[in-house]
Amino acid sequence: MNNILDELNNASDIMIAGHVRPDGDCVGSCSALYCYIRDNYPGKHVDVRLEHVPDSYRFISASSYISTDYTEEKEYDLFISVDVSNKERLGKALKYFGSAGKTVCIDHHISNEGFADVNLVVPEASSACEVLAGVMDMDKISREAAEALYMGIICDTGVFSYSCTSRQTMEIAGKLMEKGIPYTDIIENVFYEKTLLQQRLLGKCLLSAKMSLGGQMIAYYITREEMDSWGARNEDLEGIVSQMRQTRGVEVSVLASEDPEGSIKFSLRSKSYVNVNLIAGCFGGGGHERAAGFTVFEDPYKVFSEVEKLTAEQILRRVQERTGND
Ligand code: AMP
Ligand code: MN
Ligand code: MN
Repeated sequence: MNNILDELNNASDIMIAGHVRPDGDCVGSCSALYCYIRDNYPGKHVDVRLEHVPDSYRFISASSYISTDYTEEKEYDLFISVDVSNKERLGKALKYFGSAGKTVCIDHHISNEGFADVNLVVPEASSACEVLAGVMDMDKISREAAEALYMGIICDTGVFSYSCTSRQTMEIAGKLMEKGIPYTDIIENVFYEKTLLQQRLLGKCLLSAKMSLGGQMIAYYITREEMDSWGARNEDLEGIVSQMRQTRGVEVSVLASEDPEGSIKFSLRSKSYVNVNLIAGCFGGGGHERAAGFTVFEDPYKVFSEVEKLTAEQILRRVQERTGND
């Protein structure tokens, strides 16, 4: 197999899905792949499903092809998972994964062990969109698909600022720009623009956050009651944990929030050396070295202190390594 997309040749009914609580890379990669198949594989039927499409990602037209309906009972020839680090993160799409003739996984999470029949996991890639653009024929990427890919890349790289950004990322972004996409509008509308509620939530989290480990850790737990009193949805928290990390002296930021069903979602970010993927892994989650997450049903304050302890251990090890080398 030269190219993972060659799997498309043997399938006529195809389904694409991403992870629960979809982010920009997830929406971007799912909708770009949908457009690419629709445009270049005539005669194939393709569906794309996500549990929800947050308003900010609706800025790109390709997001309108995503269905949020999981009631259809169907066995697909081919199921393609994008930006999903493990099978459970497929959420409601898991039933289609289970019944599909063949499964393909295209991803960039370091914690991904390859859960499909055929897997392309590139941990060095900034985003699933970067992995996808790498396997797609650039000449066959429409402007609509290019917008979606560009959105995923800017979301997962923090507009090319995070350490996951590479020369390859910039080269792909450059080629996508040549498709005539409105790149400044995408960056402004998808990444920077926030509703007043989102801005106020950010302010609330920063005002109430607790500092620990001598100013190297910043953390906040936003309860369901708080979220409800603000009329806030989970997607309104997007970007807050990254903003918390920007505090001078901070190495690790943590934001936890309660889902309506009672589970607690933890988001972790690190600035330069703490491996938060390892920490998330201790609680059944994963992600990347600088951005990871997990979900628990335990007391969030107890989990916080465990996260704090694991962070402290990594910071101490780093100090020891550095003094040992001096
Ligand atoms: P988040 O904090 O939700 O923005 O997630 C940060 C990164 O970690 C993203 O790449 C997610 O896909 C990944 N991630 C979040 N939660 C989990 C989880 N429960 N299991 C595996 N990966 C996760
Ligand atoms: Mn994602
Ligand atoms: Mn991603």
